[in-house]
Amino acid sequence: MTEPIAIEGGKPERETFLPYARQVVDDDDVAAVVAALRSDWLTTGPRVEELEEAFAESVGTAHAVAYSSGTAALHGTMFAARIGPGDEVVVPTMTFAATAACVVYQGGTPVLADVDRDTLNLQPDDFERQLTSKTKAVIPVHYAGVPADVARITALAERRGLIVVEDAAHGAGASIGGRSVGSFGDMGVFSLHPAKQLTAGEGGIVTTDNAELAARLRRFRNQAMDTSGRERETAGAYAYEIEELGYNYRLTDIQAALGLSQLKKLAGFVERRRRLVALYDKRLAGLGLTLPFTPAGTEPSWHLYVVRLPLERLSVNRDRIFAAMRAENIGVNVHYIPVHRLGYYARLTGRRPEEFPVAEEAFARLLTLPLHPGMTDEDVDSVAHALEKVLARYEVR
Ligand SMILES: *Cc1c(COP(=O)(O)O)cnc(C)c1O
Repeated sequence: MTEPIAIEGGKPERETFLPYARQVVDDDDVAAVVAALRSDWLTTGPRVEELEEAFAESVGTAHAVAYSSGTAALHGTMFAARIGPGDEVVVPTMTFAATAACVVYQGGTPVLADVDRDTLNLQPDDFERQLTSKTKAVIPVHYAGVPADVARITALAERRGLIVVEDAAHGAGASIGGRSVGSFGDMGVFSLHPAKQLTAGEGGIVTTDNAELAARLRRFRNQAMDTSGRERETAGAYAYEIEELGYNYRLTDIQAALGLSQLKKLAGFVERRRRLVALYDKRLAGLGLTLPFTPAGTEPSWHLYVVRLPLERLSVNRDRIFAAMRAENIGVNVHYIPVHRLGYYARLTGRRPEEFPVAEEAFARLLTLPLHPGMTDEDVDSVAHALEKVLARYEVR
């Protein structure tokens, strides 16, 4: 006999719901935001600059440019890279749609590629297969906070004269041989959404060593004006010029204050995530799951803890396991529905699921388990026990 599971009327594993992600905001974060509210600058002021400097230093790049979201920041990189109609940009299909959307925003064409079996990151050989005379850039994603194979991707990009934008929205605090992600490509993009490793409520940051790209990124977020409001204020001048189309993608100083306060705690957040992941790995060993993979020489920062289900040993599919875990009060999720399966992108690209065998096989099995630094060891135990119970119920004998 197996234990009765909640979806069939048993007692839920947890009395309270455990979300898959959650921010940790403490009194010092609140105090930092309040101080910003009482200051002279609510937007585009000194706190934005301070956040940019601290972020650039933490990633090890010469420049960082703050945006109102990670998606806006990705859009900025496509503008800075001068992507336009007729240009192709290779993007892995196992990602959040924003990685592909940013190409379309500038009139370019996203070209989807399949992912690596172990990491679900952009597969370098499939990236190479997608190259045409129109390819201008590539956006590897550090999926779940596990570094992509940037050595092979940047080497190939360099031979073909392509721009590399790392989508490091999952990667704050992750590194390869001690060097931070976001510092390997021409530009790196981070997200400050509350589900990510650090938050500003909303926000995004582009890192780069290239001063010209940094200047273009700064203009683009501010209507493509060649001076900022603060610069004009300081100079006592009104004049500005606009030579290209820009947007309002500015981050507020209120958000920057929160981001700065969180950045000071990033190392601790990541350390806690790593301990929780080690605990999950130990508790889930022997259940037949495919657990997250760490490539040699990399130090992941674990935005997500994603397992793959042993469907050949189960009488039900992933969606039933998902529903059963939700009934146990465990906030499981699925990252991601591959981009090629989303209606808009399926129509735009004309690609078929069969062209992405690795992403398709993974998608059928994917289950994201809760992971955030506020979780206790007992929370991990409850997730592991619930999953063990649910898998046992549906195991084929
Ligand atoms: C979160 C995320 C983004 C977008 O970031 P926002 O700040 O939510 O706009 C981009 N790419 C990936 C892979 C993400 O997970």
